Amino acid sequence: MARFRLSTRASEIIAWFGFLLMAGSFLTLLLTPEPISPRLFVPHHKKAEPFALVVLDPGHGGQDSGAIAGGVLEKDLTLDIAQRVDRLLDAQGIMTLLTRNGDSYVSLGDRAQLINRANNAVVVSIHLNDGLRPNVSGIETYFAAQQATGIPVIASWLPFLQKVANPRPNLESQSLAQFIQQQLVARTQAANRGTKAQQFYVLANVRHPAVLVEGGFLTGKNDIGKLADANYRELLAMGITEGILKYRDTVKASAGNAEEASP
Ligand SMILES: [Zn+2]
Repeated sequence: MARFRLSTRASEIIAWFGFLLMAGSFLTLLLTPEPISPRLFVPHHKKAEPFALVVLDPGHGGQDSGAIAGGVLEKDLTLDIAQRVDRLLDAQGIMTLLTRNGDSYVSLGDRAQLINRANNAVVVSIHLNDGLRPNVSGIETYFAAQQATGIPVIASWLPFLQKVANPRPNLESQSLAQFIQQQLVARTQAANRGTKAQQFYVLANVRHPAVLVEGGFLTGKNDIGKLADANYRELLAMGITEGILKYRDTVKASAGNAEEASP
């Protein structure tokens, strides 16, 4: 009898122990936060925008007129085209920033600094070409093959920063240049001079995807008449805007595919 009661007691203890263990696990489960996953911060119905801001950089300004042909100054037309793009992007609900709003001189260094202070941006510099031959004509868009990464030079000796501090091939800028060039030519029917890699200061020293459009030859007898016409500059602005939108949609679509493909 005594042995029976003892074993009942023992099984009671085991039962209580089991119950407490279960309750404890349940409480722990309730109180433990879910593991942090990047997916928690990205709502599934809304894919992240590839950029939040377009910086428009009208070439030259103030005492720097840029190319001059007859009474036409490059600085005036680049500002006019940039303001047209600004209006078109605004209509699409896209935020913009201009590196100059009037006829003021802004150094290349100040432009790069302003651009690098922005977050999550793409950059379009707007220029008009200067050529020696009077019959030269057409549109070309530049990108920098290597760009600044935003890491101060002083930090680049640290071994773990080497990889990011090294110049990288710049696929975003190249692809932005291709979309803009394509749309510019489609809109204007101008001669397609293609996309080219060139370490222009503003392109090479900014940490965002950046391109430089040469929208035609101010010094070319074929282009000057067109460039002086506001309707043609509107076509240039439309081409630039559509190129930016195509770039955005393509980046967005490829990011979406990558998300669907991941487990
Ligand atoms: Zn220029």
